[in-house]
Amino acid sequence: MKYQYWAPEVETMPRPALEAVQLEKLKTAVGWALRTPFYRERLSGAGIKSADDIKTLGDVKRIPFTTKHDLREAFPYGLLSIPKEEVVRLHASSGTTGTPTTIYFNREDIKRWTGYVARCIYGTGCTGDDVFQNMITYGLFTGGLGMHAGGEEVGMLVIPSGAGNTTRQFRLMQDFGTTVVHATPSFLLHVESIMRAEGVGRGSIKLKRAFAGAEPYSEDTRKRIEGLLGIDVYNSYGLSEMNGPGVAFECQAKNGMHLWEDGYIGEIIDPETLEPLPDGETGELVLSCLCREATPILRYRTRDLSAFYTEPCACGRTHRRLRRITGRTDDMLIINGVNVFPSQIEEVIMSMREVGNNYLIVVEKEGVLDRLTVKVEVGPDIFMDDARPLNALREKIRKTIQASITISPRVELHEPGALPISEGKAKRVQDSRPKDI
Ligand code: ADP
Ligand code: ZN
Repeated sequence: MKYQYWAPEVETMPRPALEAVQLEKLKTAVGWALRTPFYRERLSGAGIKSADDIKTLGDVKRIPFTTKHDLREAFPYGLLSIPKEEVVRLHASSGTTGTPTTIYFNREDIKRWTGYVARCIYGTGCTGDDVFQNMITYGLFTGGLGMHAGGEEVGMLVIPSGAGNTTRQFRLMQDFGTTVVHATPSFLLHVESIMRAEGVGRGSIKLKRAFAGAEPYSEDTRKRIEGLLGIDVYNSYGLSEMNGPGVAFECQAKNGMHLWEDGYIGEIIDPETLEPLPDGETGELVLSCLCREATPILRYRTRDLSAFYTEPCACGRTHRRLRRITGRTDDMLIINGVNVFPSQIEEVIMSMREVGNNYLIVVEKEGVLDRLTVKVEVGPDIFMDDARPLNALREKIRKTIQASITISPRVELHEPGALPISEGKAKRVQDSRPKDI
């Protein structure tokens, strides 16, 4: 395969040169950070009073971690490093796990961010000939404007369709010959279900690729979307604290996401001991942003679980790859004392052909015990009025989930389209148990 690079000299830079770039940029970023009240205090506590106190790349480990809690404490301007009149934009996180946090950008920050997004998009084989429909929420969420700008930078025709309104999305695809879309994986599955229900022929659209991200999904979900729609799906990872999309992205080898190490420093730590873990081991991803002046964020605990691949990528890029994010440390459910990640349940469900494109995990209290119910939409080939195959399917799902997580769930089967769909990130877990018991 012939791989396509946006900035070949940077993307394939030998590691020693790349690390030298990281060190220079880290010093600059520490300088930016020292202008904020928050980091001035934090860094001086660690003996870092000027950028020159950073002498080697290993010195990044001297910087104390920054958490989501810190960002909330510093709200609204505690992390702003430039005069307000130089700020040109703000974005906020989706607030999946609490109050959103705010990030500011100056003009150069936006340019740098856009460059990383363009690099990601181009690296999947897109060119200026592509028509890009950005089917993700615009507004404060970074996925809208972030991917939009990257698409324009590549020279694609960008359609700012936003999320939702599936019927209108098909119309746009048909009218303008959309070749690539960006969406959450759950919305892509929904799009496919509606296409089938509304009889939209695959032949009437020209779609070739999708960028899917903003929420965790399994390899089976990727394969399912690729198979159903006949397209290539690329995993896209980002978070507002690190600008948004464009942090790590799959190349055409589709085997892990290259973290752009000339813009970010990535570490994997043990979330309990906070000790660094070697490449290959799974832990919490910690990221330092080297490319945003207005709101510098260093050693941010993302709470996302991943690992660095150890073997080099077939594409020749030297930037290390992150394994698919399996979830956040705080996604973990404790059900009757057993630790369960929603991704473990998704993996089981999405690998079954009889199962449809949507599901919901419900956890409730039943007396003193926790009760796990998995609600699953059936595939189009299953008839809801034929009890025998339904019972068999229910039992098969129950047993396979039990084999994976050791807990036997109650399984409910639903007609295609019956379970709720959300416009932004999918809400796959409903946990109605009282907190703090
Ligand atoms: P929030 O933390 O409020 O959801 P963001 O909108 O910035 O804020 O979302 C970033 C988070 O979304 C990441 O930290 C991660 O948990 C999740 N995420 C983004 N892209 C992916 C992906 N490709 N795979 C798994 N999770 C992802
Ligand atoms: Zn690669």
